[in-house]
Amino acid sequence: MKYALSIVVPMYNSAASIGRLVEALAALPVEGGHELILVNDCGPDNTLEVVERILAAPPLPITLVKLARNFGEHNAVMAGLHHISGDYVITMDDDLQNPPTEVLKLLRHAREHGHEVVYSYYDEKQHEAWRNFGSWLTNSVADVLLDKPRGLYLSSFRCMSAFVAREVCRYDGPFAYVDGLILQVTQNIGRVLVAHDARGEGHSGYTVRRLVRLWLNMFMNFSVMPLRAATVFGFAMAGAGFVWTLGVVIEHFVAQTPLGWGSLMAALLTFSGAQLIMLGVVGEYLGRLFLTANKRPQFVVREVVRGQGVRSP
Ligand code: UDP
Ligand code: MG
Repeated sequence: MKYALSIVVPMYNSAASIGRLVEALAALPVEGGHELILVNDCGPDNTLEVVERILAAPPLPITLVKLARNFGEHNAVMAGLHHISGDYVITMDDDLQNPPTEVLKLLRHAREHGHEVVYSYYDEKQHEAWRNFGSWLTNSVADVLLDKPRGLYLSSFRCMSAFVAREVCRYDGPFAYVDGLILQVTQNIGRVLVAHDARGEGHSGYTVRRLVRLWLNMFMNFSVMPLRAATVFGFAMAGAGFVWTLGVVIEHFVAQTPLGWGSLMAALLTFSGAQLIMLGVVGEYLGRLFLTANKRPQFVVREVVRGQGVRSP
């Protein structure tokens, strides 16, 4: 069965909100019909139980993808994208921060303007401050590294065409970063203003550690800029070392002072530190290559359950 729209929702600790979200999405009047893909990313609460109860009498066609363990938001979204059948896909959070009615706005914008991808953006974000800072940092780095149209805000509430979704799905490595993959496929991207509500239940599933990991994915997996920066940095350090050496030689002839242990240590620490940093960058790439070559899974699906909606067209 082909739908006009598939909605992919990664779920992590969503027992309290998922029922309301499903109801609200089912009530949307989508011309051509819509389906819901729920991906359970194995949070510690009883999300699965709640969803299975919903699946007994689903208000719209639902595909439940049960992951075998926690893989993180982007990997969960990738798992969901493999099961879509709509002409367009919208991804959204499980926590009702993206008002479900805004789904129609995204879809309409994509259709009317012929965009392959439409990102939502908010006037006023209702996240906690450190989370907003994390997003800001990710977006600024993305401007430089991902060839992102400037000013475009990468948000997890986005719409893409079936074509883009299919191309994004071709990435089968473990370091999924959906927005990076999207930007590699298309430049035909629109944006639309949506409302953003404060999180009703619980806290952001992102910890600082998770944010850093996501940030590294973007930094390392979609560009070799860090490697180039390391080279430039290396040249700069070597240049500084050369100048320093000249200075030491001149000092020897002019001042006739014995060269000190202090300056030696300073030079040693500076240059060995720089070398270690560069080695770290190279090592990070090598490690990622190793994990990818070893086929570390992007996600592992335990089971896929389908429920036919009673109200579907
Ligand atoms: N999420 C996930 N796996 C995780 C963490 C989060 O699938 O390990 C999902 C979560 O269910 C939600 C989305 O990713 O749908 C965004 O998470 P959250 O709302 O906690 O983050 P924020 O709104 O702060 O970006
Ligand atoms: Mg959220």
